[in-house]
Amino acid sequence: MKKQPFDMRALIRPDLLELPGYAPIEPTDVLAERLGIAPEAVIKLDGNENPFGPSPRALEAIRAERHYHIYPDPDQRKVREALARHLETDIERIVCGLGSDDLIDLILRAVLLPADGVINCSPTFGMYPFSTEIAGGRVIDVPRLESFALDVDAIEKAAASAKLIFIASPNNPTGQRMSPAELERLLATGLLVVADEAYIEFAGAHHSAVPLVREYDNLVVLRTFSKWAGLAGLRAGYGVMSPVLASVLMTIKQPYNLNVAAGVAMLAALEDKALLDERACIITGTREKLSAMLAEIPWITPHPSEANFILCRLDGVDAVEVKDRLAKRGIFVRYFDSERLRNHLRISVGLEAHNEPVVRALKEIGAELGR
Ligand code: PMP
Repeated sequence: MKKQPFDMRALIRPDLLELPGYAPIEPTDVLAERLGIAPEAVIKLDGNENPFGPSPRALEAIRAERHYHIYPDPDQRKVREALARHLETDIERIVCGLGSDDLIDLILRAVLLPADGVINCSPTFGMYPFSTEIAGGRVIDVPRLESFALDVDAIEKAAASAKLIFIASPNNPTGQRMSPAELERLLATGLLVVADEAYIEFAGAHHSAVPLVREYDNLVVLRTFSKWAGLAGLRAGYGVMSPVLASVLMTIKQPYNLNVAAGVAMLAALEDKALLDERACIITGTREKLSAMLAEIPWITPHPSEANFILCRLDGVDAVEVKDRLAKRGIFVRYFDSERLRNHLRISVGLEAHNEPVVRALKEIGAELGR
């Protein structure tokens, strides 16, 4: 039989063929191999990961678990119960996923009809527009003000043609938290407001909007174990929301999305909360020290941050050049290829011992570039 030619591209959604995709970061071993250095020599400050790693209890729980041959609980009962206690909320309001990325995708799939509008306040986390486009939605960008504060007046105007808004608080990569007054105005628009609190533990968890979820049906709060609990590689996140939405997400999610290792590690991490809070506190202390050290370099302006990273404006040097020269020294930071952030780098806060080599490398690079 003669084979018919098959045009695979004609089969695929045209908008997906055009999609630029999310620019992800790479793991330590890949970075080390590219440079020809040992993985231990890499100072990885590009992914807002927790430099302390997982809690010892979480590692022990993963080692002790014996049921990796059995599918995980599709209802995520134990973890949702533990989270409900941790957050003083109701289990019916909680849904866990493969990182908060999974929740972003699930929420969009649950609510969007083709071409429905989603408000994105750039510069912000790239997964919001990425997942919106994959879900067939339409991204409505309402850029942040010069100071990177939210332009709430413009959001109120755009709300009529949108269904949902994502706000990271603290925002990645700019570092500031949304104020209670701003949140109140957003909730009053009647949009579904998704407050993404991936970094809230570095701002003080008492600032969390979780307690408001009972009051406002149109509020969803996303949280993650990637940053505070050092479990980014396991993919463990969750959302707190109205029981109606939670029940739909539980129905449409992949049945076994939260894997056994992530589940036991989450439970153990919650039991090790005091240690994880203490580490978050050390990280915020290191952030303030690093910020002060960076501020002494004349061509660097660090933005204030309530998260575990610092966005730096660079003046009179090319940010990509600085990033590449840092990488040659084994130091990895994040550059965003967008108009607004062209002369910026985001530096994640690592161990305090990383501050000095990073600042020294930046000073050397400044001298090399005539600054
Ligand atoms: N939200 C924000 C604002 C983030 O910066 C990140 C991670 N970079 C995430 C969500 C995703 O986190 P997770 O690892 O839980 O998917």
